[in-house]
Amino acid sequence: MQTDLTRHIRDIPDFPKKGIVFKDITPLLANGPAFKEAVVRLAEPFRGKVDAVLGIESRGFITGAPVAVELGVGLAIVRKPGKLPWQTHSASYELEYGTDSLEIHQDAIGRGYRVLLVDDLLATGGTACAGLDLVRRLDGEVVGAAFLIELGFLRGRDRLAPVSVHSLIRYD
Ligand code: AMP
Repeated sequence: MQTDLTRHIRDIPDFPKKGIVFKDITPLLANGPAFKEAVVRLAEPFRGKVDAVLGIESRGFITGAPVAVELGVGLAIVRKPGKLPWQTHSASYELEYGTDSLEIHQDAIGRGYRVLLVDDLLATGGTACAGLDLVRRLDGEVVGAAFLIELGFLRGRDRLAPVSVHSLIRYD
């Protein structure tokens, strides 16, 4: 039987600013069986179908690393600017006010690798789109995007199309 993972997500109203309901995943991370089940369920549709997982800083590292281990593949990491020590590619994305960018090492993904993007939460999809751009820049093939949480009303799924989105908890 599947656990209702929503029981382990804490809503924090008005964080980090007024009007945002922050989905706090730390209670889920603190619960061993629930965390394990979440990792297995995130990985399940992609078993045997990917060559690497892409984890996006920073909660995408927490969720992506165990998914990579569960799938028996390596982890490529995407970081905020200036954090990666070697040669990088970068991709910009829109924020509510202005833009931000993300970076990846130029050798993080082999040519033709089948890549699964993992992050904790899909909101507008801007962050994930930038991650997918970086995969394509390295001639990787995006096979899907997996999230613990999807804020359906923000339509991130549409923005990522035709990439298939797998989420465990959806708020509409
Ligand atoms: P977006 O680029 O709009 O899809 O935003 C997704 C990124 O922002 C993810 O890395 C999330 O960790 C973070 N994020 C956006 N909205 C929330 C929220 N309501 N609660 C927690 N994290 C959020």
